[in-house]
Amino acid sequence: MASNACPGCAKEISNKKGACPHCGHPMAEGPNPVATEVTGREWKLVRLIGGLLMVTAAVAWAGKSSDAGMVFFLGCVIYLAGRLGAWRTRN
Ligand SMILES: [Zn+2]
Repeated sequence: MASNACPGCAKEISNKKGACPHCGHPMAEGPNPVATEVTGREWKLVRLIGGLLMVTAAVAWAGKSSDAGMVFFLGCVIYLAGRLGAWRTRN
């Protein structure tokens, strides 16, 4: 995207800093840092779910549950997906 459209009035703005010259809508600096932060939080949630699955599986394992191994594996996969996703987002 060479040109930048204002989220307030949808007109093209040449400078991405400060405020829109047409309607005064405040412009974010750089490539939308808010969206990156939200995405990072989502990946954190994915890792949390994966971690919880692994803990649940460990407890089930202690109780000699036959599905514990599969749940633990699933938790690992989700956790790693969360880590990988956050890493890809950051770069
Ligand atoms: Zn505007």
